[in-house]
Amino acid sequence: MKPRASRRPPGFPAGAGTSSAPGAARPAAPLRPQRLLDSAARDAARLKAPTGLGLDSGAVRQRMVDRLRQEGITCNPVFEVMAQVPRHLFVDTALAGQAYEDTSLPIGLGQTISKPSVVARMLELLFQGANARRQQHLGQVLEIGTGCGYQAALLAQLGRRVVSVERLAALFERAQTNLAAWRQDRVRLVHGDGMLGHPPLAPYDSIIAAAGGAEIPSAWLEQLAIGGRLVAPTQGGSGGQVLVVVDRHSAGWSRSHHESVHFVPLKSGVT
Ligand code: SAH
Repeated sequence: MKPRASRRPPGFPAGAGTSSAPGAARPAAPLRPQRLLDSAARDAARLKAPTGLGLDSGAVRQRMVDRLRQEGITCNPVFEVMAQVPRHLFVDTALAGQAYEDTSLPIGLGQTISKPSVVARMLELLFQGANARRQQHLGQVLEIGTGCGYQAALLAQLGRRVVSVERLAALFERAQTNLAAWRQDRVRLVHGDGMLGHPPLAPYDSIIAAAGGAEIPSAWLEQLAIGGRLVAPTQGGSGGQVLVVVDRHSAGWSRSHHESVHFVPLKSGVT
């Protein structure tokens, strides 16, 4: 995968995440998802050659959402953002025709973008956390494994502030390019080891991992807010990966295991 030419607008965070105001909770700007997404989609389309496959039409995303509904997803905010964010602009042009099928797709360096049904399911589980239910949004979000940035774009509309950490420089740069058109003050991309979380902006109401390890790193548990929820693929009892949900309460953490999944490995270190 070749990193694409960067057309980063001024003000987009350029380097590995150093926050000028650690922990500062800025008042949330009112959400205007439709307007933001319309202009973001226009800008993103300019970053990449149009595919000419009718993928810019909302109808193709709506069909994907209809299928998710039939498969048992029930979370309306997730439907809304998945109907709007153009997944085909986050994958290589050669794969754009498959962007709205329920399939994972390669994004280079042996990594994959998860299939839409798994993304939707994980976001739905996050929405069922105590803080998210009370606030009706995902609040302060930490994503581990930015990849191409698709899920970060969804999270940007569902939360108030998103920190997304990627360990591979080439994917970090690719996500910067892909996300350049998005709400720049709401997504902070960090090139770093996500196993350490991102302490400067903790605690997080919602933590979501796109790579799975043998255990949930203790840093994630510590950086989870009271009332917060973490969703991560993790090795289950039988050795295969399952979705693990951890909720933090004032008295500690509770954990539940959900369906089997197949995510790329969570690795330590940065390259
Ligand atoms: N959510 C992504 C999917 C990313 S695939 C998307 O929408 O495209 C998983 C990603 O996790 C890969 O890019 C991989 O490099 C990254 N990853 C694995 N271990 C990591 C770690 N310790 N810290 C940060 N990123 C990690």
